[in-house]
Amino acid sequence: MKYRYWCGECGFKTPWGGDLEVRPVQLEHYRRRHDGIAPGGHREAGRRWSGGRRACLAAVYAVLVVLVVLVALVAARRHPF
Ligand SMILES: [Zn+2]
Repeated sequence: MKYRYWCGECGFKTPWGGDLEVRPVQLEHYRRRHDGIAPGGHREAGRRWSGGRRACLAAVYAVLVVLVVLVALVAARRHPF
């Protein structure tokens, strides 16, 4: 899972990265640009980076293709020309 942090005081957002990678970027931004303000904003979780859903879809497609091929083979065996 990838994350990015949005600054609560301005439009700044960190690049996407692991939580431990990008949290210091956010803290550094606050230290430089909003000194004295407690770091706020919010963390955005990038679901599209997980790859889980895409892998699941690929698996479903693979199963469908195998099924279609099997059905075609069985049909060809039962009804030889
Ligand atoms: Zn900011």
